[in-house]
Amino acid sequence: MQAGDITCLQAVRHYLQAIEARPELNAFVSVFAEEAIARAQELDNQTTPKGRLHGVVVGIKDVLCYAGHPVSSASKILNGFESLYTGTAVQRLVDEGAIIIGRQNCDEFGMGSTNENSAYGPALNPVNPDYVPGGSSGGSAAAVAAGLCMVSLGTDTGGSVRLPADFCGIVGVKPTYGRVSRYGLIAYASSFDQVGVLAQNVADAALVLEVMAGPDGMDSTASTQPVPAIAASAKENGKSYRIAYFPEWLEHSSIDPEIRAALGQLLEQLKAEGHTVEPVSFSLTEYIVPTYYVLTTAEASSNLSRFDGVRFGHQSANPVEDLREFYKQNRSEGFGPEVKRRIMLGTFVLSTGYFDAYFTRAQQVRRLLQQQADAIFNNYDLILAPTSPTPAYKAGEKTQDPVAMYMGDIFTVFANLVGVPAAALPLFKHSANLPFSVQVMAKRFNELTLLGFSAALERDFSQSRKGAKELV
Ligand code: GLN
Repeated sequence: MQAGDITCLQAVRHYLQAIEARPELNAFVSVFAEEAIARAQELDNQTTPKGRLHGVVVGIKDVLCYAGHPVSSASKILNGFESLYTGTAVQRLVDEGAIIIGRQNCDEFGMGSTNENSAYGPALNPVNPDYVPGGSSGGSAAAVAAGLCMVSLGTDTGGSVRLPADFCGIVGVKPTYGRVSRYGLIAYASSFDQVGVLAQNVADAALVLEVMAGPDGMDSTASTQPVPAIAASAKENGKSYRIAYFPEWLEHSSIDPEIRAALGQLLEQLKAEGHTVEPVSFSLTEYIVPTYYVLTTAEASSNLSRFDGVRFGHQSANPVEDLREFYKQNRSEGFGPEVKRRIMLGTFVLSTGYFDAYFTRAQQVRRLLQQQADAIFNNYDLILAPTSPTPAYKAGEKTQDPVAMYMGDIFTVFANLVGVPAAALPLFKHSANLPFSVQVMAKRFNELTLLGFSAALERDFSQSRKGAKELV
């Protein structure tokens, strides 16, 4: 499109047809068809220099505000609500010529690992529709994997970009906390939430990240650090890195043996290629998931208190006696079961008498984790890890056991607790015919190293795969 070989209009028409052909995936909850066509025509007629994302067809998770378009966090409580302004990440993409083609299905308020907690019903995994696409950005991952858009914007509070990328076999990147503005992102847990990218390859993710990153006067937690040339880093080659891995993770009782073996082999291979690859003991492994769920539910119980049906959102049709009853009915009808569970859990851990035992304790563990991460990144450039203990599982398999589902977040939530950037790279295939990925983490604000290494690894693997094909 930059060269003018194909038009933006051709691209948009292609993706609209693709979306129409796969309704069963339930990846999009609204498609902005007419508007995307008009925008494509406008871009095709543009005489000024083309933007860095000229004609890039993007889907956005239903938690990102885009003025004049509905946004609901896949919750009934925001049924019918329209964004009053556009979030910074989305706006920066549009400013560089991107075309927003629709909003995508996800778990309600980002709470879930399978996209089964959505008011719109589940999204399916395009690799095999009997399996979940992962969550919470499940629709965003399914859309990219099925070729329904070029890239998606998701959000990652505890793996919601990386886990669905892993389950659907695409690239998922969660930047450093604060690298991308959260302005216009409906909050789940504000000290964890980050906007991330789901893409077909590392170079695409790097370019989109570079465009949307950077300081923003509308979000005081967006870092003022200048954005380096992230996109260019995806072309780097031949560097040698110091890589750490946690034996406690690779040997964890929940990990699938094929995933363990594939990562073990990868580490060996990297060592043979001249990288430093060393085990680092990580004794706090069992504390990660509980710490994450205490802190995020606490933040969620506070963030979600604004949804009371008074000024916006779902209002019960039932008659009410008093204000308390009014809130109660609106919230009881508007929130789904998982969101209610988390509001109650969060309210409990913040309550007088339990605050120190849970919330304060979890904050202390978070601090310890951050100190450990700092110490590791003083000696190593990268941590390599699994993304998920298992590949995708069948729909309905874990819906009755929330704790089992929470435990599946064991390898992803660490990066959010400590704020480091992380990527899931779909290098592997399981004998169950499902993809799985390696997770790469780097030091805070070191997306250059993260994506430089990731791109080189991706190249290595696609070359060796090509080689394998030729042999056959
Ligand atoms: N599985 C995580 C959770 O349910 C995903 C959160 C996220 O990143 N939005 O909290």
